[in-house]
Amino acid sequence: MSIINLTINLHDNKDFIEYVSIESGQPVQQCYQCGKCTAGCPIAFAMDYSPNRIIRMVQLGLKGEVLKSQTIWLCAYCSTCTSRCPRHVNLAQVMDCLRGLARREGVQLKGRAKDIALFYDCFLDTVKDNGKLYELGMMLNYNVKSRNLLKYADTGLAMFRRGKIKFFPTKNKNLKELAEIFKGVKESEEIS
Ligand code: SF4
Ligand code: SF4
Repeated sequence: MSIINLTINLHDNKDFIEYVSIESGQPVQQCYQCGKCTAGCPIAFAMDYSPNRIIRMVQLGLKGEVLKSQTIWLCAYCSTCTSRCPRHVNLAQVMDCLRGLARREGVQLKGRAKDIALFYDCFLDTVKDNGKLYELGMMLNYNVKSRNLLKYADTGLAMFRRGKIKFFPTKNKNLKELAEIFKGVKESEEIS
């Protein structure tokens, strides 16, 4: 186990704490580690660091560990933590901010974090192409990119038989406007 000198770490990463507070708009420093967020989090059992630990790690400037964690990708943005926090920290928003930062910094994701990030990409690809979700196309894209062609094939087939997913996509008629939105988001990400 590697030992971290928190004083040096905090000094080296003080920009990180400030960045997370400003970018997420959340009073991260106000967290006093009551643990209510974690107690209510439905995904905490699967996380490598509990939600309150992630906040503490941000406070301590443990940038590398936070950005590499599975937790920030497993968070389902359900906001249970946010509704319970006595210090008004919108933790879901903090997690979202950390995911964005991990992507921008090119953090090499592993395990479920990698799968979830790929799933997000495939979801956005289909929305970009069709203006709405095209489930079959998204899952095929995901399976090809994750090199697991038959993943969820049974579920997909069962849903198809019941008419829950369509074979061909239907397109939104406002694709031009949508392209502008994607372009704007990309530009704003490049600035931040
Ligand atoms: S509920 Fe709020 S104050 Fe308590 S540990 Fe979680 S983020 Fe911190
Ligand atoms: S928003 Fe994320 S961290 Fe908060 S309770 Fe839901 S899954 Fe857990």
